[in-house]
Amino acid sequence: MRTPIIAGNWKMNTSLAEATELVSTMKKRLGRMSGVERVLCPPFPWLTGVRDLIKGTPIKLGAQNMYFERTGAYTGEVSPVMLSGLCDYVILGHSERRALFGDTDELVNKKVKAALANKLTPILCVGESLEQNEAGETIEVITRQVKAAFDGIDSIEGTVVAYEPVWAIGTGKAAKGDQANAVMKVIRSTVGKLYGDHVADEIRIQYGGSVASNNVAEFISQPDIDGALVGGASLKADEFLAIVEKTAEIKTQA
Ligand code: PEP
Repeated sequence: MRTPIIAGNWKMNTSLAEATELVSTMKKRLGRMSGVERVLCPPFPWLTGVRDLIKGTPIKLGAQNMYFERTGAYTGEVSPVMLSGLCDYVILGHSERRALFGDTDELVNKKVKAALANKLTPILCVGESLEQNEAGETIEVITRQVKAAFDGIDSIEGTVVAYEPVWAIGTGKAAKGDQANAVMKVIRSTVGKLYGDHVADEIRIQYGGSVASNNVAEFISQPDIDGALVGGASLKADEFLAIVEKTAEIKTQA
């Protein structure tokens, strides 16, 4: 039985006051829920503040990226050592990083290795572009990204994979639940070939791309979808709470 996981990726949004208000508004209800893991991924400067606000609750904290080196002359970068002990999770390979900041498969692989070596759980994002989707290359792209991200890694214990079709991110055009589930099955079987059936059964796979309270049920009711990585809707307290609550309700009935 996989515990569902909903993570909110705030991206480069919120002022300190907005971040504080968002967490303070959600904290009580978010802290009370059971049956679903919930993770907040604020921008780097708010990580310690959010950590202090959620202290003593079961709410988890995640970073949105990191570099793979431990220390050194890497101006502007954040190291896994700095995040270790502060965060539980780190989002890696998000399509915005891949498209805008040069995160290649090779770099993502180095980051996944560094996260695992520093007791951070990766939320590894994979997803095909619209062109790749229309060219029928989805399975090939996803399989390549998963294999590349895990290349040379003996154990991926705890790692979460987020399948986020690039064309569905921030567009309001979510994938269909059954289409997304079909891709999840491929991700699970790829993981199975690399690490065995047990790891494939255990690994949690999120859907991401225009998830909101009015469509989360379509994804969560699919057998291979274990949660969601939520962008825009995670900035609205009511929306995020509703997404988490619906997930808990659906998965506890399943
Ligand atoms: C994301 O950025 O990971 C994401 C899924 O964004 P949105 O929910 O806004 O599509």
